[in-house]
Amino acid sequence: MVKKANNNRSASSGKQADGAICEPCESLPVAFDRHLRYWLSRDDDAPTALYYSMALSIKEHMLEYWRDTRTNDAQYKNKQVAYLSLEFLMGRAMGNTLLNLDLQEDCKAALKDYAVNLEQLQEQEHDAGLGNGGLGRLAACFLDSCASMDIAVTGYGIRYEYGMFTQKIVDGYQQESPDKWLRFGNPWEVRVPVHNVSVKFFGHTETHTDKNGRRHMEWVDTQDVLAMAYDMPIPGYKNERVNTLRLWKAEATDEFDLDEFNQGDYAEAVARKNLAEQITMVLYPNDSSENGKELRLRQQYFLSSASLQDLLRTWVKKCGTDFSQFGEKNAIQLNDTHPSVAVPELMRLLVDEYYLEWDDAWAITTQTMAYTNHTLLPEALERWSVRMFSHMLPRILQIIYEINARYLDEVAHRWPGNCQKLADMSIIEEGHEPQIRMAYLAIVGSFSVNGVAGLHTQLLKSGLFKDFYELWPHKFNNKTNGVTPRRWLAHCNQGLANLLDDTIGHEWIMDLSQLRKLEKNAKDTSFIKKWQKVKHDNKKILAEMVKEQCLVEFDADMMFDVQVKRIHEYKRQLLNILHVIHLYNRIINGDTKNMVPRCVLLGGKAAPGYAMAKSIIKLANNVAHMVNSDPAVRPYLRFAFLPNYNVSAMEKICPGTDLSEQISTAGKEASGTGNMKFMMNGALTIGTLDGANIEMLEEVGEENFFLFGLNAQQVAQARINYSPRAIMQNSPRLRDVLNLLQSGHFNLVEPGIFDHIISAMLSPDDQWMTVADFDAYVDTQEKVADCYAQPELWSTMSILNTAASGRFSSDVTIAGYRDEIWKA
Ligand SMILES: *Cc1c(COP(=O)(O)O)cnc(C)c1O
Repeated sequence: MVKKANNNRSASSGKQADGAICEPCESLPVAFDRHLRYWLSRDDDAPTALYYSMALSIKEHMLEYWRDTRTNDAQYKNKQVAYLSLEFLMGRAMGNTLLNLDLQEDCKAALKDYAVNLEQLQEQEHDAGLGNGGLGRLAACFLDSCASMDIAVTGYGIRYEYGMFTQKIVDGYQQESPDKWLRFGNPWEVRVPVHNVSVKFFGHTETHTDKNGRRHMEWVDTQDVLAMAYDMPIPGYKNERVNTLRLWKAEATDEFDLDEFNQGDYAEAVARKNLAEQITMVLYPNDSSENGKELRLRQQYFLSSASLQDLLRTWVKKCGTDFSQFGEKNAIQLNDTHPSVAVPELMRLLVDEYYLEWDDAWAITTQTMAYTNHTLLPEALERWSVRMFSHMLPRILQIIYEINARYLDEVAHRWPGNCQKLADMSIIEEGHEPQIRMAYLAIVGSFSVNGVAGLHTQLLKSGLFKDFYELWPHKFNNKTNGVTPRRWLAHCNQGLANLLDDTIGHEWIMDLSQLRKLEKNAKDTSFIKKWQKVKHDNKKILAEMVKEQCLVEFDADMMFDVQVKRIHEYKRQLLNILHVIHLYNRIINGDTKNMVPRCVLLGGKAAPGYAMAKSIIKLANNVAHMVNSDPAVRPYLRFAFLPNYNVSAMEKICPGTDLSEQISTAGKEASGTGNMKFMMNGALTIGTLDGANIEMLEEVGEENFFLFGLNAQQVAQARINYSPRAIMQNSPRLRDVLNLLQSGHFNLVEPGIFDHIISAMLSPDDQWMTVADFDAYVDTQEKVADCYAQPELWSTMSILNTAASGRFSSDVTIAGYRDEIWKA
């Protein structure tokens, strides 16, 4: 039964308006009851109904702050930033929103007469999984930091009907099912038809001369698609700012195929609506690899065009068609090359629609655009065929040609007579099927190009973008990634947050460098006891999840050794599995001396088209099956593959982890952000000198980090004469592991299914050089075990890791973007 409405005012609600900001005059509990009874018209207290009522009430609470933020920002007193990203991996909103609005106690009060507590309520929320992994999660962390740091940033993305697929494991194999996250509606969003824009596709171009004799290009006979705006509130941390994440949904325009209507093909005409709506139907599930499908390019142009039209319309409303100040008042950050078609699209809008001269439009574009590169992997570099462009975006292709011609003049000027340079640096890659190099387009059109960790930026400047660095050194800069301490510490690890509050005060939440104050407690026995209790409690929560989802029992008194991230050969989940097999081998051979009992957890999704990644999942599951079903192994080793790794899973995983696995082939992981979440929550890292691991190690010191393996230079060197078989012959441990694997011990009923994995590892062409680092990895894992066997030492190291994690707050990263790129 629904309880009676009461009029209790909570401490933080119901305050009267005293100026620009007016808080809602209704308390959260009252709004909650109203929603539950009238809006949803429900008279039961099913957890889903309670969740929706609460979410709607919280959103309502934000509406005035949200409107005031929007109204203030539209004055352009400060620079406006648009963050364009094909992915926003937001996860759940409720817990984070309650934290940032300081509504947790009100929410608990509202729930006190119901048989559901706050945690259970939050569990009702479906993750907003509009991203693959690190890139999309970075965008989400950035939005939280921007709002919390009072920066006017709007996120622009796509409202995919289906987000990242749900992963199930059946007979050890990954099985994908569609993620219909909007099935029961999204209580956080607001549909805002006034912001609709129309996006052109196909058609052709015509030249017109106006009455002043000026020539214009017109893009005509297009098939237009309506972009419908859906806004999600992004509340800052206790600062009354609510920024916007605007997600576009594709709909058929009102005028769609009138001809067909008139010809009586009513049903066909309606059915064609689907063609338009396909654009935003599904997120492409590829992480770190391009896909090349036409629909993907349509998504990219749809997002870019809709977002830029929105920016220009807002500008014109305030400033008219004088764009002279536009570049000073706007910055557009491109999250990877995915939205880089925004460069020619902004040119098109300024030149074709607002009649600016090319040079003026180009000055504005290159004063506004900034590009973030996320990977060095060649398979991730986007190229679109000229043929596809000329068909789908004919006007945009013309503009790209014009940009390229003018830019190549600059190249020719810089390297006179060097035709090879022109070919190498051209935005168009000539050949049998000419391609547009989207990264080059992004660099040419941007005033800033940044990498996402120190090593990554170095490698961009010396490798992939070397020529561009020589041409325009001033464009290049580094912004090491970070994660938001609101979600990844305060919200997900309340036990630790409380201990921090009691020990160093509460300021760390907006100034994570404060965590350094923990250093003086690192050897304090009574503090260590408290630290251990927090970790142990978190391990029990994680163990519960593992038991529920994997049917494997983890023991909170054993070491929790975790690797969760997208499955990719460069991330080397295989190396981890080889180590598990090594431990298993030792145990069944009775060699358990000095062995520290461990629970190893692996999790992550494989791109559905990535066969090797899927085989690695199968291998992990088969090894787990053998490990867990042998009672003699059980006291020392347990191994589980967690299905459907996502943001809300990570919120339980990182607080409960002892050892974080960050073991990519050096030079391949641009930054990593999972590594930072673990570090913040007191995990120790075993890792290579790759991505942000290098900076983590610098902050915490080598004595508190388990470093192993070849560095990026050594990897490049070792590649020249790489002989995995020779390495195997010299390593008895590796030989034993590979022999056991080869023998079919883990696939008795499916002979041969892992042969290709073994031969890939033993190939001299193995890009990822897994076996090259095996011995170093196993040795270092033994050091890990030695440390873990000394609980006080381990806890001291754990405290020092949290203490040193302040630099990896996304607030620090965003301060860098704000001061050095956006100048906001
Ligand atoms: C943080 C995060 C990632 C990124 O992890 P890496 O280890 O940096 O690859 C991917 N997916 C989810 C769900 C995350 O929370």
